[in-house]
Amino acid sequence: MAQPGGEDRWDRSRRLGWIDVDSVLESHCLVVGAGALGNETVKNLVLSGVGKVTLVDMDHVELSNLNRCLFFSDADSSERAAKADVVAQGAMRLSPDCEVLPFVSKIEDTELDWEKFDVVFGCLDNIKARLHLNSYSRHHRVPYVDAGTDGSRGKLQVVLKEGPCLQCSMNRSHYQVLERRFSCTGGDFSYYEPPMAAEVTTTATMAAMQVKEGLKIISGQEDGCIRDVMFYDAMRNESLVLELDIDEDCPNHGM
Ligand SMILES: [Zn+2]
Repeated sequence: MAQPGGEDRWDRSRRLGWIDVDSVLESHCLVVGAGALGNETVKNLVLSGVGKVTLVDMDHVELSNLNRCLFFSDADSSERAAKADVVAQGAMRLSPDCEVLPFVSKIEDTELDWEKFDVVFGCLDNIKARLHLNSYSRHHRVPYVDAGTDGSRGKLQVVLKEGPCLQCSMNRSHYQVLERRFSCTGGDFSYYEPPMAAEVTTTATMAAMQVKEGLKIISGQEDGCIRDVMFYDAMRNESLVLELDIDEDCPNHGM
């Protein structure tokens, strides 16, 4: 939007060429999880000009979150403030034209109008909520970009309207070998989640890649998206992309 005097907040974004800034300004994204990844992902979305963000997280701020979450403060931790509320307020200070709507609840218990979302971003720390998000995104045909980290390692999966989904990857032996090798983000079906090592450099890296993929989708650049999973290991200076097939036994296809 042009300001008095002819300045445009989005001038440098428009100069990129590949980003459809007007579509980004009109877009509405769902972010689930307002922890380390969610902080960075919402920051990247609002600074990129996304018009509206719905943010869902049931948790409150704790002192141990403060090594990696730019919107959280000591006061938020003392007050046990809701993560979604704190991120929403901070993000709207960064970019007042953007509306961030917080829901302090579990994603499984949140009633949402899925059809209105352009992209869904998973910023979660457990496989159960990821699979919920995956199946709802598939059902409502909204692209889903999932990220996860484990210390210095990260994983990103792009689930487009067509093609393999998060659940498709679960039964694949070559995928499971890579999951173990990169030891990342809930590949095993375990519902006990002990505290994991976490550092801001990894979460910031993965959230930046996650939002970049979302901006490609909003800008009609899906052909340039990661197919389908990217693994990243900062300490080995290694990353790789693994293409997947649709698993014919996956319940999320053929509906
Ligand atoms: Zn599937």
